[in-house]
Amino acid sequence: MAARAAVAPMAPCWAGMVSFSVPLELGFDGAFVLGSPLSWVARNASKPGRDGRESWVMHGFPDWSGQHLELEEEDAATQLLDAFRAAVWELDSMPIQLDAHRWRFALPQTPLPEPCLFDADLRLAACGDWCGGPRVEGAFLSGCAAAGRLLALRWAPG
Ligand SMILES: Cc1cc2nc3c(=O)[nH]c(=O)nc-3n(C[C@H](O)[C@H](O)[C@H](O)COP(=O)(O)OP(=O)(O)OC[C@H]3O[C@@H](n4cnc5c(N)ncnc54)[C@H](O)[C@@H]3O)c2cc1C
Repeated sequence: MAARAAVAPMAPCWAGMVSFSVPLELGFDGAFVLGSPLSWVARNASKPGRDGRESWVMHGFPDWSGQHLELEEEDAATQLLDAFRAAVWELDSMPIQLDAHRWRFALPQTPLPEPCLFDADLRLAACGDWCGGPRVEGAFLSGCAAAGRLLALRWAPG
């Protein structure tokens, strides 16, 4: 199982969050960013259940994140904001908060096609977004598949 899991390596992601006292008039709530240290930016308040504060999530491109993995958080946050500014932000608003978090194992690069790994003899299942799909939906379905395999053991003859 470990050998099979190793076929699905994880790419890192520096993730930043920047907040402003006034809304940015960008005309969109999310964007894929090309040719940049960034891969994706999203207005956090546009997601369900968030407060109204003007905050933007900034995801570092996997290659950029890998090359800059050992930056200090403050430096990574500044570089992500610079990239955001270069890509989309032409206003002169100053941030009121800026943070970054290093996700070392963030994005499955080549998820396995099987929904989970399972060893009936060991009664052991392994699941996650690295099986089936690199998003929370993939992780959920993989967890359901693992639960199904384990529950089926319970009613198996013998
Ligand atoms: C910055 C970022 C933003 C994202 N945004 C989105 C989004 O907007 N929408 C979306 O669909 N997906 C998003 N994703 C992807 C989503 O978060 C993952 O696909 C999902 O969380 C994977 O779920 P999982 O159960 O496979 O793994 P995880 O959620 O990583 O859960 C693994 C768990 O195992 C625990 N663990 C690890 N090692 C051990 C150990 N040795 N012993 C015990 N416990 C351990 C960890 O603490 C963790 O709780 C994002 C990912 C990142 C990194």
